[in-house]
Amino acid sequence: MDFTLSEEHQAFADSVARFAQDKLKDGALARAHSPHYPWETAALLAQQGLLGIAFPEEDGGQGGTLMHAVLAIEQVALVCPKSADIVQAGNFGPIRTFVEYATPEQKRRFLPDLLAGRKLVSLGMTEPDAGSAVTELKTSATPDGDDFLINGSKVFSTHSPEAELFLVYVRFGPGVGGIGSVLIEKGTPGFEVGQPSSFMNGEQWSQLYFENCRIPKENVLLGAGGFKKQISGFNVERLGNSARALAVGRHAFNTAREHALTRRQFGRELCEFQGIQWRFAEMAMKLEQAQLMLYRAAMEGEHGLPSAQSTAMAKLACNLAGWEVSNDALQVMGGMGFSQESLVEYCVRRTRGWMIAGGSIEILKNRIAEGVFGKTFPQRPPKN
Ligand SMILES: Cc1cc2nc3c(=O)[nH]c(=O)nc-3n(C[C@H](O)[C@H](O)[C@H](O)COP(=O)(O)OP(=O)(O)OC[C@H]3O[C@@H](n4cnc5c(N)ncnc54)[C@H](O)[C@@H]3O)c2cc1C
Repeated sequence: MDFTLSEEHQAFADSVARFAQDKLKDGALARAHSPHYPWETAALLAQQGLLGIAFPEEDGGQGGTLMHAVLAIEQVALVCPKSADIVQAGNFGPIRTFVEYATPEQKRRFLPDLLAGRKLVSLGMTEPDAGSAVTELKTSATPDGDDFLINGSKVFSTHSPEAELFLVYVRFGPGVGGIGSVLIEKGTPGFEVGQPSSFMNGEQWSQLYFENCRIPKENVLLGAGGFKKQISGFNVERLGNSARALAVGRHAFNTAREHALTRRQFGRELCEFQGIQWRFAEMAMKLEQAQLMLYRAAMEGEHGLPSAQSTAMAKLACNLAGWEVSNDALQVMGGMGFSQESLVEYCVRRTRGWMIAGGSIEILKNRIAEGVFGKTFPQRPPKN
């Protein structure tokens, strides 16, 4: 068993770290405080080959692996947390499910703009009455000649105010077996993107409304019975979420460490106080533990999709470590940590959201417990 990165992985991580220091360090604070997607930076990352890292070369990707994508998102987040959103959008988000299951024609239509950082795809899964209980979604796809009519609504979709393409979970029929997904472009008649609302982390989201929105059958990504496949693709999204949460926590940790080495109170550096030292010892341990679980899940998915159990454990560990460490880092930095002069308060706000997004920490625990006992535990009340 080897706990170190291979020479090739390390060299890749080092090259991304150098690029990030060189091109992303300046402006990191301003990017974090803007509610908008950093399009110019997205084009830069695309040129650097940091979008589509694990996608096949024939699809316009880089032919790398999931581990390379995890290393890239980490190294970018360590320098510019907001730019890591671009790595997420171009490697781990709905684009990953799209690349896995799209037809060659669908790829030809949509991938070039997405991989160039010119357009975004947003995931429409959550509905007003179907959050954690995602299989209760109601948005319907009804056949009408060669087309489908989409009716329903979605909430909380990341990048929804700025995306051009939406990967929307829909119901073709009853039950879990009736769920699949379709691709819907902004501007399609019957599809409306509502006014943006803000999350605590600074991101914006718009409610999506579909009213007899007509799409051709060529826009079906996965028909009825596609739910399991969609969730397998979604496990990759969860790993991107995990990697960002952890790296953003480490970003805050590094900033607080520098602060503790230089800030003097009572005539000594903060790091001289045992109360501060123990806090850092615990923070360092949380980061290391979560890192091991993340890399294990990423290596499992090295030549395919990662397993649900390892992904759930990695996400839970990284979400908790990222949030707890950022929050402790803020405390160690006192008023400066709480101020928007530093990125640490941003790290706290960002890591908090990932404990809800992409499978809340409670839902992950339910999933892990099922693995522990080798049983499924239906969450719905028993039928009489
Ligand atoms: C930052 C952010 C980004 C997001 N991005 C997207 C996106 O791109 N696309 C998209 O479709 N959605 C997105 N979401 C929505 C997200 O997937 C949902 O918020 C999430 O699934 C929880 O659903 P809910 O908010 O309706 O909470 P609810 O399901 O109402 O849950 C409320 C609380 O109850 C807990 N709970 C629910 N059921 C159980 C149970 N059985 N056992 C124990 N506890 C339980 C939950 O963990 C939670 O703490 C995003 C959310 C956030 C915060």
